[in-house]
Amino acid sequence: MESEFSEQNSLTVYRFPNLNGYTEIHHGVFTRLSGFSKGPFQGLNISTTVGDDPTDTAGNRRAISRYFDGNELVFIRQVHGSDIVCLKKDQKNGPAIHDEKTGDAMITNILGKMLVVQVADCQPVLLFDPGQKVVAAVHSGWRGSLRNIIGKTVSSMADHFDCDPEQIIAGIGPSLGPCCAEFIHYRKEIPESFWKYQKTENHFDFWELSRDQLQEAGIRANNIHISGLCTKCRSDLFFSYRSQKITGRFAGAIGLKTGSNGS
Ligand SMILES: [Zn+2]
Repeated sequence: MESEFSEQNSLTVYRFPNLNGYTEIHHGVFTRLSGFSKGPFQGLNISTTVGDDPTDTAGNRRAISRYFDGNELVFIRQVHGSDIVCLKKDQKNGPAIHDEKTGDAMITNILGKMLVVQVADCQPVLLFDPGQKVVAAVHSGWRGSLRNIIGKTVSSMADHFDCDPEQIIAGIGPSLGPCCAEFIHYRKEIPESFWKYQKTENHFDFWELSRDQLQEAGIRANNIHISGLCTKCRSDLFFSYRSQKITGRFAGAIGLKTGSNGS
């Protein structure tokens, strides 16, 4: 497990073993270690909407951009919905979108755009189609899981970017594990069709649900990697809303490198 972390430019980053070998992409899930933020946001908080000092957040975002060779970070305003923001190469390269567009997933085939989702217990899911050279980043909290934002993103990759789901590599990042995903009011909050993911009393396995949603969308089982790291259990490494309430957000990011083949 620990070997899936790497250190560079003083940042400690979780990297998916099944995405590691692809030299045409950057990717990583950034731990909260190092970074400028203080107090409850201690470390590498990237959210501008949780009450952190904007100067510290900006410094943290710059550090992540540097980790990605200075490439541009792209953020969206996440709302636990199921809207997907597509950035396509043949569209006019408009101004950068920073926390402007609303959505919970991003897809792009444009080089040098690092798609960043902001999470603290929600799942950062990173997708890459090495055939079409398309990347996607998904923010899937439990509400997003119930709306199948993951499956919708894979469908959108196929519909709008000609991706073949059988080729797509997927990583499910550090997030609330079945050990800590307790839903006392699940009978009201979670439809009965999802109750099979209840593993112990009131505790649900959303990792397994995401794996099923990826497979139902056509992704092969052996192309899916689950980090298996629970953010609440490892709040030393990651921000966890359930653990701390007032806390930061960490980054799950993926993008195509500038200068990679197939452009
Ligand atoms: Zn846990």
